[in-house]
Amino acid sequence: PVVLGIESSCDETGAGIVRDGRLLAHVVASSMDEHARFGGVVPEIAARAHLHAFGPVVRQALEQAGLRAAQLDAVAVTTGPGLSGALQVGLAGAKALAYGLGLPLYGVHHLAGHVAADTLEHGPLPEPCVVLIVSGGHTSLLLVRDLVREPILHLGDTLDDAAGECFDKVARVFGLPYPGGPAIDRAARGGDPKAVPFPRPLTGGPRGRDPYAYSFSFSGLKTAAARWAEGHRQRGERLPVADGAASLQEAVADVLTRKAVAACREHGVRTLVVVGGVAANSRVRALAERRCASAGIELRVPPMTLCTDNGAMIAAIGDLLVRADAPPAPLSLTIDPSAPLEYAALQPVA
Ligand code: ATP
Ligand code: FE
Ligand code: MG
Repeated sequence: PVVLGIESSCDETGAGIVRDGRLLAHVVASSMDEHARFGGVVPEIAARAHLHAFGPVVRQALEQAGLRAAQLDAVAVTTGPGLSGALQVGLAGAKALAYGLGLPLYGVHHLAGHVAADTLEHGPLPEPCVVLIVSGGHTSLLLVRDLVREPILHLGDTLDDAAGECFDKVARVFGLPYPGGPAIDRAARGGDPKAVPFPRPLTGGPRGRDPYAYSFSFSGLKTAAARWAEGHRQRGERLPVADGAASLQEAVADVLTRKAVAACREHGVRTLVVVGGVAANSRVRALAERRCASAGIELRVPPMTLCTDNGAMIAAIGDLLVRADAPPAPLSLTIDPSAPLEYAALQPVA
């Protein structure tokens, strides 16, 4: 089938087209620049930007695929989790297209979309697999047994901040530009990752029976980094930003990859998939590669453009749902800003 995917859960308006697992179009418009001066995404600005971008982004995707709208077979759209105003715009647009073109509509979970993104680069997911989703809004370890037919198991989540949020907030304290993740990555290049002994939160539990084995916590790390910076300021010393960035990045990468590999080991899983904006981090990638290699685990990380929010990943999960004969959603489909992750499709697959 030829599936159009629409994503609008945060600040990216994405439209992608996938045909039988193959990527035909991938167009993203971001309102990131409009949020920069506020230091974070402003929901109303994001919703308005989606309204402006929706039409052009969908048209561009069709152009890129060399298709007419009449050649589409289904429309998939993110219904949650995300910002409600932003989600509303994408869903309204997707409904209009589905209704106007007489196509089945699928409401999908944003995180299932992130997981499916990898299939566009590396082919069908080896199941079961462990997925580490790390972005500005999520830090989750998932056990995926069958992406479209079985509930996805949450092994753990962050108890407070997401890893990307930690990078973004600390970058601000270090005087680096927004978004902070890429800035920390660049600043860390010249730094010593052992310079500052930042904590490794939730890694000290009892072996084999730690209730927080797959949970994360980054707010303490954020505070430790802020204190470290503040200490320099109070003593009137120049802030060694490169060392701070490298040490922070090392702490985050260490915790993320250690837990992800431990989850693979415990569940006897041979494949780890890392997705989300923080998968772009050079240290996260390098450490994941090294640790997976020494544990005999295959590591799959999609290219960066498929890691951050986009419509192609929504088309990818939609295509999988259509091929699995999942029932489409009624036009009364609604958004669910805090959708729990159980099934890829928010109308549970029968
Ligand atoms: P969501 O959480 O819903 O996926 P988001 O927009 O926050 O939405 P992404 O677009 O996937 O998530 O990723 C953005 C996040 O990734 C930001 O927090 C950004 O700082 C972080 N990021 C991007 N590149 C890097 C990098 N090289 N190193 C560390 N973090 C990075
Ligand atoms: Fe996302
Ligand atoms: Mg984003």
